[in-house]
Amino acid sequence: MSDLRDLYQEVIFDHNRHPRNFGPLTDANRHADGFNPLCGDRLTLNLRVKDGVIQDARFEGSGCAISTASASLMTEALKGKTEAEAAVLFDGFHHMVMGEPTTVDLGKLAVLAGVSEFPARVKCASLAWHTLNAALKNEADPVSTE
Ligand code: ZN
Repeated sequence: MSDLRDLYQEVIFDHNRHPRNFGPLTDANRHADGFNPLCGDRLTLNLRVKDGVIQDARFEGSGCAISTASASLMTEALKGKTEAEAAVLFDGFHHMVMGEPTTVDLGKLAVLAGVSEFPARVKCASLAWHTLNAALKNEADPVSTE
């Protein structure tokens, strides 16, 4: 188990150091801002959704390693997914970080399972997903984890 844990940490460090899909998305049609006051994580999520499919997802902002890695992994996972598939992933991810069983295949997102042992970090890992939820609903108010 410790080897797997090391591997997971490696992936998280890598996504923090080299976030995927980081930067503006000029032709975005969905947008939301998220803030986790507990840690100070801030992120802006931009999506391009067409015919119910998330064609592109990019984020900007600054936060801790967990929030950045989570946003990076999430934007990778979202591309090509329908809004319904994204909602299923969100549900599965939420169960995972709460330490609850899930039947959803989370793929690479599973590297964040370890945060369930650190309640304060759950909000860091979930911020991107709550922001996604708001973006898909096109909510104008910024999301806060508090
Ligand atoms: Zn954080």
